[in-house]
Amino acid sequence: MHQLPLVVFPLSGNMPRMNPKPFRPRVLVVCLVLVTALLTSSFTPAQRRPATANQRAKRPKLVLLVVVDQFRYDYLERFSDLFTENGGFKRLLRDGASWTQSNYDHMPTYTAPGHATMLTGAYPAESGIVGNEWPDRATGRRVTSVSDTTVNLLGGAANEGASSPKRLMSSTVGDELRLATNEHSKVIGISIKDRSAILPAGRHANAAYWFSTNSGSMVSSTYYFNELPAWVTTFNNSRPADKFFNSKWERLLPESEYSKRANADSPTWENIGNQAGDTNAFPHVLTGGLAKLDTTTATANRAFYNALDYTPFSNDMLVAFAQQAITNEQLGADDDTDVLSVSFSANDYVGHRYGPYSQEMMDITLRVDRQIGMLLDFVNAKVGLTNTLVAFTADHGVAPIPEHAGALGLGGSRIKVADLFGAMNSAISARYNPQNKTPDPTADYLYKNASGTTSDAFMNNNLYFNYAALKRDGVSLDEITQIAGEAALTVPGIARYFTRPQLERGQTSITDPIERRAVHGFYPPRSGDLVLITEPYKYLGDTITATHGTPYSYDTNVPTILMGAGVTPGRYYEAATPADIAPTICAILGVTKPSSATGRVLIEALKK
Ligand SMILES: [Zn+2]
Repeated sequence: MHQLPLVVFPLSGNMPRMNPKPFRPRVLVVCLVLVTALLTSSFTPAQRRPATANQRAKRPKLVLLVVVDQFRYDYLERFSDLFTENGGFKRLLRDGASWTQSNYDHMPTYTAPGHATMLTGAYPAESGIVGNEWPDRATGRRVTSVSDTTVNLLGGAANEGASSPKRLMSSTVGDELRLATNEHSKVIGISIKDRSAILPAGRHANAAYWFSTNSGSMVSSTYYFNELPAWVTTFNNSRPADKFFNSKWERLLPESEYSKRANADSPTWENIGNQAGDTNAFPHVLTGGLAKLDTTTATANRAFYNALDYTPFSNDMLVAFAQQAITNEQLGADDDTDVLSVSFSANDYVGHRYGPYSQEMMDITLRVDRQIGMLLDFVNAKVGLTNTLVAFTADHGVAPIPEHAGALGLGGSRIKVADLFGAMNSAISARYNPQNKTPDPTADYLYKNASGTTSDAFMNNNLYFNYAALKRDGVSLDEITQIAGEAALTVPGIARYFTRPQLERGQTSITDPIERRAVHGFYPPRSGDLVLITEPYKYLGDTITATHGTPYSYDTNVPTILMGAGVTPGRYYEAATPADIAPTICAILGVTKPSSATGRVLIEALKK
């Protein structure tokens, strides 16, 4: 079977860059048979014996994970007629296997938990990544999924915090590949957001790179190495972000195409805020409110770099950086399978700002199709798509803007956190301070951070209690969580609650998908003591225009697509989850699946 590359290389190398032809396995098989017959005709009978069934198939040279942050499955259907031949989605849908019923089976459906699932095959209950942030009881400080005070940032501004994968509890596909190849596989994660670069790559990755909005550079941390590779410094020296200053984001297509599939531009429900120096209507001019760029100190341009996140231009910068990584790190250049993960963040920022039915969301979806197409073309030219296993997914979906869903009669509205706290606090006080004593002994029952405030007591719709105070007064966690949970249910829009004792003891039903998603999202050392579920289309808070996080379809139903060697193209209706991606890739590669992978192998699309 070592003759295989003789045939595969020229085919992939000659594929036209802008108009790749579909991979035709049958033609290739016929060629292979002919070439193999010719090359082996003078060999001895023993050498001509076909490969035995237990001989491992040749591994692809590259595993490419492409992620779009906040991408609902229905975008693939809603805009399908507008995707281009050279774009990414038509190719992925035609040449790949795609699952229409792919849902996250955990909550909260946030960026870090989603990205931690893709290449671990594990839910937050096993990955430990229960949110983008949570209160750390040991230090009394709020931590992010990747914040790490023991490492330093490379390429960022002075005193800027650094990040690492140390809180990820599961190994990844990349970790297992590096173990299997005695470190010869290279594993690199790239994104605008630190968590989205770091978590898919894993703890034993070679590198992760993300964008610093303080410095306008692609950065990493001393977790991976002591200084940035020279090619990264060269990339940063070209000031890759600065060239987008004053850029105008206009619609890609005539407005009539948008009004068929999205709301009018700038409806009233977008009026919760806008980016500095910009309005909510097209065209969006990217300045961050600055008159000009400060060429002496990059940190003075922070507002502009922050605004860049909210435009498709940051995705362009990411494609350019990924191309540099492929070239300079020689990804996919040899037989030791490398892993490259690229996560496009701008779609999430735009979705939060304008909502899933906005013209901006539609436009950035059409643009990311083309950007993924460029990335696939580049991989095809450098590595060959026939040598690459591509996975495409998203970390979560998004709900319509609550005011929009309310106007449509879908029950969308905002629940005030103050109302919820009022109800829970009075119920706790009524039970544990019935005489209305002052000072109220229940005043410190909620979790307090190192600064002595309760500002971290409610995060990710999880309520955290102060264990020391409960112990002091002999209050049972079982009882107080139930009292607070029942009080929460009296607030309109709160649908259900789960308590820590209930979740820890497994007193939940896995046949109820909402309960199952709560269980899969619960990691005892980091989760709260009471988990609240809102009704569909309701949002607990009033600061973000549109958001995600719930166990409902609009947040959980995302694409799962695999394309490449070993995968039978098609549209699959079986239930799937992005947690199935890692075990399936490992099955194709013939490596151990990640330590806590609970997803299934998507056998319906595997070639026998
Ligand atoms: Zn988001």
